[in-house]
Amino acid sequence: MTWETVVGLEVHVQLLTRSKMFCACSARFGDPPNTNVCPVCLGLPGALPVPNERAVRLAVRAAYALGCTVHGRSIFARKNYFYPDLPKGYQISQFDEPLATGGSLAFASAERGPVTVRIKRLHLEEDAGKSFHDRVPGMTAVDFNRSGVPLVEIVSEPDLRSPAEARAYLAALKQVLRYVEVSDCNMEEGSLRVDANLSIRPAGSAELRTRTEVKNMNSFSGVEHALTVERARQIAATERGERIEQRTMTFDAASGEVRPTRSKEEAQDYRYFPEPDIPPLVLGEAWLATERQALPELPAARRERFERDYGLGSAESAVVTATAAIGDYFESFAARLGKDAGKDAWNWVANDLLSLSEDGETIPISAGLAGEVVGLVKAGQLSRQAARRVLSEMVTTPKNSARETAGRLGLLQVSDSGAIDGWVRETLEAHPAEVARYRSGETKLIGFLVGQVMKRSGGKADPKAVNTALAAALKK
Ligand SMILES: [Zn+2]
Repeated sequence: MTWETVVGLEVHVQLLTRSKMFCACSARFGDPPNTNVCPVCLGLPGALPVPNERAVRLAVRAAYALGCTVHGRSIFARKNYFYPDLPKGYQISQFDEPLATGGSLAFASAERGPVTVRIKRLHLEEDAGKSFHDRVPGMTAVDFNRSGVPLVEIVSEPDLRSPAEARAYLAALKQVLRYVEVSDCNMEEGSLRVDANLSIRPAGSAELRTRTEVKNMNSFSGVEHALTVERARQIAATERGERIEQRTMTFDAASGEVRPTRSKEEAQDYRYFPEPDIPPLVLGEAWLATERQALPELPAARRERFERDYGLGSAESAVVTATAAIGDYFESFAARLGKDAGKDAWNWVANDLLSLSEDGETIPISAGLAGEVVGLVKAGQLSRQAARRVLSEMVTTPKNSARETAGRLGLLQVSDSGAIDGWVRETLEAHPAEVARYRSGETKLIGFLVGQVMKRSGGKADPKAVNTALAAALKK
């Protein structure tokens, strides 16, 4: 039997705020353990939470970027469970009246082409602390710096059909959230976390069978790998006639295995109820409309615009819109190259400039300086190959102009006709036999003569100008 995979993702994203969701503690990553804490995020008796306005604004922005309906009224709720890293005994989240519902995200699936995944809901919540089982022998250590850090949870419908699609969805989601500056989505620092629900069904069927939840995946490739393993496990079990149990699985990145944790039947009921210390979150229509209008251009719109305005193919367009910063750079650079220079600008950015980037995102030479280098190439003063050396040199000397750098490296070409005419004359005098053979029809000797002129110039002559000058001199 052919099996179809059904995957839905729950993605937790840390919002780019300076402080936590309900207190003024710093939300910074990497500080010494338990230094960013206060009575509110430690859950001390009597401490009262106050929602972070910027976190609400960022969550609204994320919701609009994903095409969700943002509700003018939503409710914070307590999700009750016991765990050592949750000092209050509950997490403040949103439950039956979330901030936003009903969005979508489109991306290209390698298997199905363009697909649109429905977003079920997006809600605000606070993070828990972090337990460390390997820091103190025989004990579990807890760091509460992360306790109370603002998150949005973005829940998709089960519209994904393969582990690879899950990965592509995550990449598209990360790109959108970074474009709108809601989160850095850095998985290594825990600012993007993914739980996946996976089930299988006979291909062509519309039923939803028992699913398992896969947790603890710490990279996009880890998500794809874990889901591939879990899918294979479910198919093998089903084909052996076993029943799939609804349970939580954990991915072990070191061994590449997916193992069951606890059975869902035993999982606690979270006993959600409205948070009595925070009134309903009410957002005015005018405020929401302003936030919606302030949304920057999203990746898909920018890709299309670049294809249209710069004559790029879809793959080319994707390269220069990978991040908002690369897109901005490309536009500024293309503008310097002049009208209809889109393809040319793309070649420079994709082939020469992005390769100088350490993180693949930040190009270490300003668009202005890079434009100067292109100007020298166009004026015949720098070869295309030498331009590459000048660009990589300019990374370390960003204060010098392109001309200064090229001059210092001895790469400036001479296209001055006086100097070139001189080298041409000397060359023709030095090789009378070749000149005579050329004039009697052995035109392929032009290559030899160009080479001799270049040699006399010490490699500095502009080959194009040499060709022109030689052709003219040989006609005389
Ligand atoms: Zn605090």
